[in-house]
Order: sequence, then C-alpha cells, then structure tokens
Amino acid sequence: MAGTSKTKPAPDGFDADVIIAGAGMAGATLALALKHGGLRPLLIDPVVFDAQLEESFDGRSAAISFASFRQWRTLGLAANLEPHAQRIEQILVTDGRRPGASVGPASPFHLRFDSAEIADRSGGEPLGYLLENRRTRAALAAEVIAQDIPVLAPARVAHVDLKDDAAEVRLEDGRVLRAPLVVGAEGRASVIRQAAGIGVTAWDYGQMGVVATVRLEQPHQGVAHEYFLPGGPFAILPLTENRASLVWTETTAHAKALKAARPEIFHAHLMRRFGDFLGDVRVEGQVFIYPLSLQLADRLTAPRAVLLGDAAHGVHPIAGQGLNLGLKDVAALAQVLAEAARIGEDIGSELVLQRYSAWRQFDNVMLAASFDLFVRVFSNDNPLLRLARGVGMSVVNSIGPARRFFMHEAGGATGDLPRLLRGEVP
Ligand SMILES: Cc1cc2nc3c(=O)[nH]c(=O)nc-3n(C[C@H](O)[C@H](O)[C@H](O)COP(=O)(O)OP(=O)(O)OC[C@H]3O[C@@H](n4cnc5c(N)ncnc54)[C@H](O)[C@@H]3O)c2cc1C
Repeated sequence: MAGTSKTKPAPDGFDADVIIAGAGMAGATLALALKHGGLRPLLIDPVVFDAQLEESFDGRSAAISFASFRQWRTLGLAANLEPHAQRIEQILVTDGRRPGASVGPASPFHLRFDSAEIADRSGGEPLGYLLENRRTRAALAAEVIAQDIPVLAPARVAHVDLKDDAAEVRLEDGRVLRAPLVVGAEGRASVIRQAAGIGVTAWDYGQMGVVATVRLEQPHQGVAHEYFLPGGPFAILPLTENRASLVWTETTAHAKALKAARPEIFHAHLMRRFGDFLGDVRVEGQVFIYPLSLQLADRLTAPRAVLLGDAAHGVHPIAGQGLNLGLKDVAALAQVLAEAARIGEDIGSELVLQRYSAWRQFDNVMLAASFDLFVRVFSNDNPLLRLARGVGMSVVNSIGPARRFFMHEAGGATGDLPRLLRGEVP
C-alpha cells in the first residue's frame, strides 16, 4: 500500500463505522477484527505501509503470546506469519550479577519455564512466538489490502471534536471525517487521548532498550534467556534461521554510546554481556535504541472515543507484554462493538463503551503496575534486594503450580478471554 485509498460517505452520512487513528500493529489488527465482525473500519496513518516495512523503520521483534497469535491466525494472517514465527519452547531467567551471560558458575537463582509442562492445557502450543515486527507489519498490511479496508495514508489526525451524535476527526490537511466512534491507536503521543481530555500517569525510567538482531553459531533450540544485570535486563530472544533478537537495557547515556560505537567496539561490549555459550555472535543490520517509560491513560473511553494499545498503556519491555496487552484490547473492543452492532445499539454510546472499559481497564492497570515493580526490583544492585529476588526466584522455580501459573499468564490464555483470543471471530 503506497498511498491513500478513497473513502465514500455512506448513506448515513458517516465515512465509516469506526475511524481508527494509527495503522500500527494494534490499529491494523483492530481494522481486520472489526471487518470480520461486520463493521466498516477506516485507518489513518502519517506513514504509508511501504515505509513501515523498511528495515530501518522498526528493528524490534516481539514475543507474542500464543493467544495473541491465535487471534492473528483467525484474522487470516497465518500463511504470511507462520514461516517467520519462532516457537519459544523454554524461557530461562537468571539473576546474573556479573556481566557476561555465561561467566562464572551458574547462578542458583534462576527460573526455568518449559512449554512441555503446560502442553496438556495449551494443546501443544509453545510458550509464545518470536516475530520480527517488520514481518508482522507486512502480514497485517497485506491482509488489510486483501480485505479492501480503506486506509488514508499519509494523513495525520490533528484533532477530534466529540459531538453527541458523532466523532468529527480533523486531519492535518484540513479534511474532516465523521463516524459514530473514533479509536486512538496512535501510540504514546495519542492526539485522540489529548483531544478527549484524558490525562496520563507517566514516568521515565532513565533507561533505553538497545535492540539488535544477531546470527548465532550454535543452535538456540527455541530457548529465550533473560539475565538481570545491574544496569537492567538483557534478553536473548530466539528468531527463525538460528538468529536472535537482543533487548539490552542500559542507562540512556550508555545506550547512546553503544548506538554510536563502531561495529567492532559494539561487538566487544556485546560479547562481554553475552558470553560464548552460543558460539560467535554476529550483528546483522542496524542497532536501534528506544527510550523506556511508563505511561498509563487515566481512562480508556470518552464520549464517542476509545483508546487502545500504546495510546492507552505504554509499558517497559521487561516482560515482553506491551503489544500483547494492545492485542487483548483489540479482541475485547472488536467483540463489544460487533455484538452491539448486531443488536442495533449505537456503537459509540457510553453504554457500549463502558463494557470495553470494564473488560480491559483492570487488567491493563494491574499488569502495568506489575511490570513497573519488576523494573524497580530487577534493575537494582542493592545486595539485600538481590538476595530477596534470588530467593524468590528459587522458590517459584521449585513450585510446579507457581511456574505453571506464570506460563499460563504469559500465554495470555487466562481470565475472561474475548472470542478472538480463543480462535473465534468476534
Ligand atoms: C525495545 C522494545 C521491545 C519490545 N518488545 C515487546 C515484546 O517482546 N512483546 C510485546 O508484546 N511488546 C513488546 N514491545 C512493545 C510493543 O513494541 C508496543 O507495545 C507496540 O509496538 C505498540 O503498538 P501500537 O500499534 O499500539 O502503537 P505504535 O506502534 O506506536 O503505532 C502507532 C501508529 O500510529 C501512527 N500515528 C502516530 N500519530 C498519529 C496521528 N496523529 N494520526 C494518525 N496516526 C498516527 C504511527 O505512525 C504508528 O503507525 C517492545 C517495546 C520496546 C520499546
């Protein structure tokens, strides 16, 4: 998709049933889910799909829970995603005091999660899948086009007037579009959130995520590693073709220095952290850095407007759950709106939007608070805290039901699951 699709106002005078500001991974997934639910979505984004797919646009990979992956399969993405999805069979979490993932004796303080332990309830699913964001973006773009969903791009939402009977969305180029509902899926700087007067609770961690893709000499065998080093977590996440995505948390100053370092200097720093347990490690492509902060919207809805994805909650990547939270929002919102439309309710009414908010707000706040606590406990070199977290990890590791609880939570298949996360259309 290189440019702008045309929209034609329907006889009801609306340009769409739902205008979605932001065609990122959450917004594009919502558009597909709404289309499957019998509604007419319209996507708006300043960045055309072709540019979102460039290698320099997004160097991250995401750990996707098996429930989130099931949603994408249901929405028709399987053929494009499966060749690039790496099964995560095990997760090893280690409190690595010293830099060097394999330096010194193995820490007694570790946690091991294994997909075989929950195979009876997960139907043989892995703990999750690792997917490069650009592959996911490509699959979503292809399906949005195949489903003939209108996309206005490049176009930027500048403001929204939330009227009694409609959301009037104003674009930067002066165009005005109307719909019974507008969704803010435009990430942390959400214009819809600001225009709706929804405040945020936010703080910066003073850290950045350094992200690189590497090719490994030894087979990774589908094992994801997370080491808690004094500067912050260091994750080695397995990718297809025996590659791995590294997410290396550092203070902002260190991260910027690493990004600016010559390749051989970066490689030397990397090997000090990584160790040699997977043989030689070669960086492929660019090194990316991302600022890390927490940002939680005070509310998920306003009259004729809702928020989802990072526009509603931006979290630290420590648990690899940011996008998964957004995809749960998508599944819940699509189901609420499809059901409301089926029985003739006004999909932008407060009564309908409240059902979405009741479904998602508690989960979002609880998980964002838990990830924040993890960051504080695990990015800290205080000896007492180190001992306490080490003992905590050993205890959880020795209790089978506790381990299985965490695995089911990470798989995203707990609680009141929307239909899409169970593999059914909304
Ligand atoms: C280092 C790192 C590692 C991560 N790893 C994981 C992981 O392993 N697992 C996981 O689940 N999550 C992970 N995340 C989180 C995940 O990347 C985000 O949660 C996800 O990208 C958010 O998607 P989104 O579609 O909500 O927002 P965004 O990706 O921010 O997309 C917003 C879209 O809105 C568009 N936009 C912006 N302004 C406007 C406007 N005014 N009008 C219209 N459109 C607009 C943008 O162009 C963009 O396309 C990680 C994050 C980081 C930083």
